[in-house]
Amino acid sequence: MKIYTIYLLGVLFALMSCEGKEEQLKTAEAVISEDRMKEYVRELAGDAYQGRKPFSAGETKTIEYLQSTFQSIGLEPANGAGYLQEVPLVKVIGAIEEPLSLVMPEATMKMDYVDDFIIFSRRLEEKIKLNASEVVFAGFGIVAPEYNWNDYKDLDVNGKTVIVLVSDPGLESGNPDFFNGDAMTYYGRWTYKYEEAARQGAEAVLIIHQDKGAGYPWSVVVNSGSTAKIYPQPENDYKNRCKAEGWITFNKAQELFSTMGRDLDQLIAEARQSGFQGFEMGVTAHLALTNRWEKARSHNVLGKITGTDLADEYLFYTAHWDHLGIGKKMDGDSIYNGAVDNGTSLAWMLEIARAFKAMPQKPRRSIVFMAPTAEESGLNGSGYYADHPLYPISKTVANINNDLMLPFGRCKDVMVTGYGQSDLDQLVRTEAEKRGRYILPDPNAHTGMYYRSDHFSFARVGVPAIFARGNNDHWEKGKDYMTEKEQYWITNCYHKPGDEYQQWWDLSGVVDDAQLLFRVGWEIANTDRYPQWKATSEFKAVRDAQFK
Ligand SMILES: [Zn+2]
Repeated sequence: MKIYTIYLLGVLFALMSCEGKEEQLKTAEAVISEDRMKEYVRELAGDAYQGRKPFSAGETKTIEYLQSTFQSIGLEPANGAGYLQEVPLVKVIGAIEEPLSLVMPEATMKMDYVDDFIIFSRRLEEKIKLNASEVVFAGFGIVAPEYNWNDYKDLDVNGKTVIVLVSDPGLESGNPDFFNGDAMTYYGRWTYKYEEAARQGAEAVLIIHQDKGAGYPWSVVVNSGSTAKIYPQPENDYKNRCKAEGWITFNKAQELFSTMGRDLDQLIAEARQSGFQGFEMGVTAHLALTNRWEKARSHNVLGKITGTDLADEYLFYTAHWDHLGIGKKMDGDSIYNGAVDNGTSLAWMLEIARAFKAMPQKPRRSIVFMAPTAEESGLNGSGYYADHPLYPISKTVANINNDLMLPFGRCKDVMVTGYGQSDLDQLVRTEAEKRGRYILPDPNAHTGMYYRSDHFSFARVGVPAIFARGNNDHWEKGKDYMTEKEQYWITNCYHKPGDEYQQWWDLSGVVDDAQLLFRVGWEIANTDRYPQWKATSEFKAVRDAQFK
């Protein structure tokens, strides 16, 4: 009888503490405020911040604001006594001296800078010249042993200029096992194509732009290519990289191939077939540009909540603070404010931090909130962190990142970019379903978004990382409404001065996503288990090697 009573009391206590915990979580998530989110974005996307370009006066203002906000939320400094991690970068400003021209046996094709091509050099050399550089077409420019694919096979590109197609051969192949089908692999990214061309010894590399394959229109290439470029500080002045890296428009490429009697669409279809052989084009490239550069230090901003019994294990939330700064004038405005990119995600992260602080007990694992710098120029801040971590990567259990959270209200879907990579999917699904929401794999996986924001820096070094938010199915107005809104936003605001804070914004969806991903983080932070990559993930092997 006595034992039975004790048992019943035990069950009762367990139930009470469980209910108590749920009550606590509810109270904590209720702290997440739409008004405060709007205030953060209005501030950070204000003209006074000049588009938050690394190294600019906008950086100083931004990192000061973030530090004081971290402090007022009660986050501890995450780098010794400070909130900042220095990130050594180099800013390279190129100027075209002689535009790209392609000399054919019977004619010369002169290209107009910006309208027809964008080119830059990351080499820290003052004068860059392509002088009658032989041009080679190298298909997709991919060497992928696991797909038995080598576009450079039997091609001599040493000291030559390669022209390659955007994306990878899986796109529109209808075969999900071939380069992940329509979902872009890392082989489809421009970063990879530049790296591979350099490994092959090419002098220059040009990617033929296509909206679908790139995942964005030509204007985005122009806006990110014609302002100063930012790179990690190199050891060898980037002498191991191609002299020139760039893009040409589809129309110009079509014109070029048609003068050779070839149809570009037909050529793309052929290049998608295995065994396709690239070829010398009988064309030479000419170009001259000058580079100026400036080495400087930018900053990642990091705050933390120290855990309890698992304090030496870490969960990272990330949202980059930087944007494009001041650039080409459009409709009379030259400040690229970056309100959605990435003000809304910063607001999301700051409010999650507040929710954690509102819990009466600390999480078991430590939580780090990081706003990386220089995401826009190629994930440079998070990449530097991943290569120079403040906490061991093998003890970093997961990363939850966000970028471009749209201000159009609550969504039923939780879009997971990189769905199927890790078992974090299941944690998100469980919490989503509790809120009447559902998981949606990114319907535009062809844009390669899994490789295009800071979670990729964590994935690359083996840390399971997730990028998830409502994006496609508006709670009241449905899918067509969101498609239309997103299209509108991409056309008018994405990487444009039009990405500004507006009074009419509805951030209830960002609130919902913050509550959801706070819950997911709380689960991760209070278990002994490490989130795992799926067996098919390209990142699993890196992680496994850390636990040998
Ligand atoms: Zn962004």
